[in-house]
Amino acid sequence: MSKRVYNFSAGPSALPLDVLKEVGSEITNYKNSGMSVMELSHRSKEYDEIHNNAVSYLKKLMNVPDNYSILFMQGGATLQFSAVPLNLKKIGKADYLVTGAWAKKAHKEANKFLDAKIVFSSEDKNYSYLNEIGENDIRKDIDYFHITGNNTIYGTRIDKDFKTNAPIVNDMSSYILSEEIDVNKYGLIYAGAQKNIGPAGLSVVIVRDDLISKNDEIPTYLSYEIHKENNSLYNTPPTFAIYFASLVFKGLLDKGGIKEIEKENIKKAELLYDFIDNSTLYQNNISKDLRSRMNVIFVTGNEELDKKFILEAKGEGLVNLAGHRSIGGMRASIYNALDIESVKALINFMEKFEKVNS
Ligand SMILES: *Cc1c(COP(=O)(O)O)cnc(C)c1O
Repeated sequence: MSKRVYNFSAGPSALPLDVLKEVGSEITNYKNSGMSVMELSHRSKEYDEIHNNAVSYLKKLMNVPDNYSILFMQGGATLQFSAVPLNLKKIGKADYLVTGAWAKKAHKEANKFLDAKIVFSSEDKNYSYLNEIGENDIRKDIDYFHITGNNTIYGTRIDKDFKTNAPIVNDMSSYILSEEIDVNKYGLIYAGAQKNIGPAGLSVVIVRDDLISKNDEIPTYLSYEIHKENNSLYNTPPTFAIYFASLVFKGLLDKGGIKEIEKENIKKAELLYDFIDNSTLYQNNISKDLRSRMNVIFVTGNEELDKKFILEAKGEGLVNLAGHRSIGGMRASIYNALDIESVKALINFMEKFEKVNS
């Protein structure tokens, strides 16, 4: 490939080209410091500015209230599967909505540290549906209720308000910054950066301050209190990833914020789902109110044909369209960095492929 491809990968994913170019332009000499951001001390004034900008841009973008802290950590969303129960445990109980493989892993991990109950699981039907969760389904005396707002592998998005007095924890890894959300609805939000924020290596935690407490029994690195007290600079943070993320945040702010990118994301998803629904070859069996705007899954109904699709698409510069290895088929992840032209290019190919193969 001599030019850039349309990268539909679920993660690490496509990054905004303008940010890649800006980063490239200062890769050997960041703002006359004589060195790359990767070579800057995390205690330098240059890095300090990058770090604080990243926090304040994100705060502005997501309208994060003053009683929440933004933490930059490492270990991906996976480390948060342990950090959340360890930090939020008081009573020793938490309820989980198991709507996908990541949610299942989050629950399994939490169960090591507290009594983690599955309120609902859609595993029996390959995580393709969601039942009504009533007031009595969620226990009253719990430390938190955990959901996975967008299920990356199964292409579902949970757009529901849950009745509980417990803080709601949302793993937003694959849809953070894709739509406006009210942070106040959640006690804690976390996300690995490599899907909709920036390079892998950074994870973002947004947590209500009253949920943070000092706890000397948990590993130091996992303590939200330690990260909060040190402005996420207790140890060496993933400086390059944070620098990259700050430029992504800035780019979104310059574009008009999440409101604008959400409009685009809705258009992109509608275009693709409409095409799939109107085609005779491709299918997506997720009910409309549950469909993800970020991860669009589809099949032809014939595994051999799916393989052919993925291979031929790659030849046309449309890459990483294979579904997750656990379910097969196709998946187009259309995160913020993929514009509507990428979706049109995909549809164009799908149309051609359908003509020849049906
Ligand atoms: C990708 C993903 C994860 C795992 O993230 P890591 O950063 O690789 O640990 C967890 N949850 C969701 C919803 C994801 O999409």
